[in-house]
Amino acid sequence: MKLWIKGKAYLNNEIKEVCINFDRRIKEIKSICKPDISLPQGTLILPGAIDIHTHIRGLKLAYKEDVISGTSEASYGGITLIGDMPNTLPYINTPQALSEKLKEFEYYSRVDYVIYSGVTKEFKEMEKMPIAGYKIFPEDLDKEETYQILELQKLKILHPEVPLALRGNRKLRLNTWYEIGALLYIAGYKRIHITHATNISTVKLARKLGFTVDLTPHHLLVNGEINCITKVNPPIRGVNERLWLLQAINEVDTIVSDHAPHANFEKAYPYEICPPGIAAISFTVPFVFTLVKKSIISIDRAVDLVSRNPAKILNVPYGEIKENYYANFTIIQYKHWRYSTKYSKVISTPLDGYPLEASIYMTIVQGKVSNYEGEVFPVKGINPLSDKNDKN
Ligand SMILES: [Zn+2]
Repeated sequence: MKLWIKGKAYLNNEIKEVCINFDRRIKEIKSICKPDISLPQGTLILPGAIDIHTHIRGLKLAYKEDVISGTSEASYGGITLIGDMPNTLPYINTPQALSEKLKEFEYYSRVDYVIYSGVTKEFKEMEKMPIAGYKIFPEDLDKEETYQILELQKLKILHPEVPLALRGNRKLRLNTWYEIGALLYIAGYKRIHITHATNISTVKLARKLGFTVDLTPHHLLVNGEINCITKVNPPIRGVNERLWLLQAINEVDTIVSDHAPHANFEKAYPYEICPPGIAAISFTVPFVFTLVKKSIISIDRAVDLVSRNPAKILNVPYGEIKENYYANFTIIQYKHWRYSTKYSKVISTPLDGYPLEASIYMTIVQGKVSNYEGEVFPVKGINPLSDKNDKN
């Protein structure tokens, strides 16, 4: 079914009142129509937001987060496409484990999704599967097959910490050179993305080496690692490094949540042994547009950060409101509220209560209303890398 939506939209670097006709894809854009969805004053239609670094869990880790709870939280936060990391149970680095994960997402995901493979000796088999690329964890930097994978055409996303950072006292891990040094392991390789830079030197070195790079809101905003709720890898740095990182908002390619849920009982373990991870996937888009409201960044920069650039990094037809692109939209409004999660199994994050000036009015995924004023519906997301139903 084709629908018309009418409202103010961000189109070709301008904000203008338009009518957009779409089914699963955008069909036509014009100035006058009889709309099926008429948006109220104060809302703004943006190209659907993308979070390229999430851990939606599921499979045997569904007690931490499952595909319904994690992708509902994504839609609540205006995210229309997520990239899911392979460190689940089973680990996603065989065609069989990947098929299991893809099936779970196909049945239950409420937003579009792509899946990354972990490092594996069987990469020739994984190359035939609909994966978005590979995730390289610090321990992988010691493996021979990692350097064969780095030669491949597909996207390689690096968690930048040297293998040494995994050993010994956690206090040593606070040294940023453990992070910056990891980039030197992979200098010279192509189509590399550096994820969750915690300090400006990582961002600058990534740029110099020709890599794309992102940061997370928690590495900018959370006031140090003080307990298990604020424990995350790489660790949150000192206040000076965080202030410098704020400048990097104009240099990084995208902002990711690194949504990494754990069960309450796990986060209640003693600090030394509790699992690291912060789960606030719904924070990113409202936060980025709060920066726009406060005139800290431009709207063009905001759309680059959450839509245009991540679409380019993944090389998928998202990130623009343009004919024949997928009909995924994030519709925001400027209003004051304080952050908390709604659908995630994780109810406690260090960003809880953070004052925001933008919220999600509606999320549209594959031409269907997935979230309306915070109410998320069971629409089905797709994997754009194996879009079988595509008639275009
Ligand atoms: Zn992660």
